[in-house]
Amino acid sequence: MNKTTGKVTGVNGNMITVAFTGAVAQNEVGYACIPSEKGPALRLMSEIVRIRNGVADLQVFEDTRDLKVGDELDFSGDLLAAELGPGLLGRVYDGLLNPLPELAEQCGFFLQRGTYLPSLDRTAKWAFTPVAKPGDRLTAGETVGTVPEGVYTHRIMIPFAWRGVYTVKSVAPAGEYGVEDAIATVCDAKGAERQVCLMQRWPVKLPITCYAERLRPTETLSTGIRSVDTFFPVAVGGTYCIPGPFGAGKTVIQHQTSQHADVDIVIVAACGERAGEVVETLREFPELTDPKTGRTLMDRTIIICNTSSMPVAAREASVYTAVTLAGYYRQMGLNVLLLADSTSRWAQALREMSGRLEEIPGDEAFPAYLESVIAGFYERAGRVRLKDGTIGSVTIGGTVSPAGGNFDEPVTQATLKVVGAFHGLSRARSDARRFPAIDPLDSWSKYPSVIEQPRVEAIRTILRKGSDVEQMMKVVGEEGTAMDDFVVFLKKELVDAVYLQQNAFNDVDASSSVERQRASFDILEQVVSATYAYTDKAEARRAFLRLQQAFIDWNNTPMDGQDYGARRQAILTLVSEAPHE
Ligand code: ADP
Ligand code: MG
Repeated sequence: MNKTTGKVTGVNGNMITVAFTGAVAQNEVGYACIPSEKGPALRLMSEIVRIRNGVADLQVFEDTRDLKVGDELDFSGDLLAAELGPGLLGRVYDGLLNPLPELAEQCGFFLQRGTYLPSLDRTAKWAFTPVAKPGDRLTAGETVGTVPEGVYTHRIMIPFAWRGVYTVKSVAPAGEYGVEDAIATVCDAKGAERQVCLMQRWPVKLPITCYAERLRPTETLSTGIRSVDTFFPVAVGGTYCIPGPFGAGKTVIQHQTSQHADVDIVIVAACGERAGEVVETLREFPELTDPKTGRTLMDRTIIICNTSSMPVAAREASVYTAVTLAGYYRQMGLNVLLLADSTSRWAQALREMSGRLEEIPGDEAFPAYLESVIAGFYERAGRVRLKDGTIGSVTIGGTVSPAGGNFDEPVTQATLKVVGAFHGLSRARSDARRFPAIDPLDSWSKYPSVIEQPRVEAIRTILRKGSDVEQMMKVVGEEGTAMDDFVVFLKKELVDAVYLQQNAFNDVDASSSVERQRASFDILEQVVSATYAYTDKAEARRAFLRLQQAFIDWNNTPMDGQDYGARRQAILTLVSEAPHE
């Protein structure tokens, strides 16, 4: 194919316009060439974001300094695509899927423009086992063979982009192969032969849809966080968002979830946060252990990282890269959790791009299509039945960091329209160090809880009433508050302290299994449904503090620990010893 070339006619920050003749496509990759006297031109990767009669607008994924009007642009004929194959797990990539440690090794401390590395290691060998046989008729996404990747069986599939039915001619024997080696020859309906390799490429902006059926997300995904699983659950294959002001604990909650959620693979898209915070993520993850295997969490994690100091355009691409990898592993019948931190920074990249294109701005200068872009991203979550009957899922959780913590802004609002659960972090709670700072009154979920709904509602009623009493007490003081109301307030404080709050940094309390949450909820119900006939408020307060301490001691005791039963009993004893009517 003759590749189209063009000439740069304008440079506006990361956005360039290029005049061309020939055929180009939306989202096609091009390379802007900065000529060099010393050697070959510096080629900067870019992507077409708009085409209008003979002129294309491209966003360049790098700093455009030295790029001038008249410089050449080579269109690649390919859409912005990710390399998919074994060897992605455990790696750290930038938004364009360049492996970061390797890039640093090649370039030294300062990353050089125009350096792109293959995402998958070309020297690694993988132990291939054939599954398909000559004569088998397969379609995109169906398995040709497998290789082990860590603890998972990595399926080598008919590439997702191939249309129609392919008849297998031959499959390579079991053995060691590199990602570019052909492991099968197949024929299309017209008899044309094609080679299947361990790796394939997929355009990141398109969802991967070679499954049999989308299923409703109806199963609770256990995250180990009580406040979430009991009150504001997430579903396997569902979506949720965590908006919160700076410092409210968005990143800590995502780390806690990535360690304890009941999923196979975690993909972290660290998007546009300050470099220091991302470095923290990179440093922390290898040190976290996977509670399921006892090995490092990195073994089942992929980090896509794009700090605020990296070019904005690559940030826009990074969330698509991340969700593409998530969709890829879903095709292997795995449950994948994608955590995007923060989608606000991603939306800012969209805003910047839209501004440079001089599009008509919508609310707060975000593009008018912001809502549909956000919806399109979250729609890539889902639980699916694959063509072979196995089930895989992608669950997406995105943080939103609205300026000043005001949720009444376009990104939060657009996200709320499409997600299934909302974990609103409250400044008041994080200031009071009540972690996780998920607001128990504002947050919501459309997914099923691990506890029956009426029981959850009963506890939420106590939270609501107790909080009303608290507001009233601020006006009339403790003395002006009736004893019954005061006890409701104490009950609410207890539920908050022993159930909503959870210590992310205590080995036992950091994660609460579904079984444990049910046991804990049972006792909590008994404690708060009892009537307490105190005559003195100070005495009531002291009694509830004792209850609280007993409950926290129980929370910090492992379920298989010898004190577990005794500590549970200690709570019930305190309840029975309290004065009742
Ligand atoms: P954000 O990402 O919202 O800006 P972070 O997640 O970085 O905020 O949290 C800020 C700080 O709050 C943390 O460094 C930690 O000290 C504290 N924090 C957050 N969540 C918890 C938690 N669950 N338990 C204890 N401390 C927490
Ligand atoms: Mg953060």
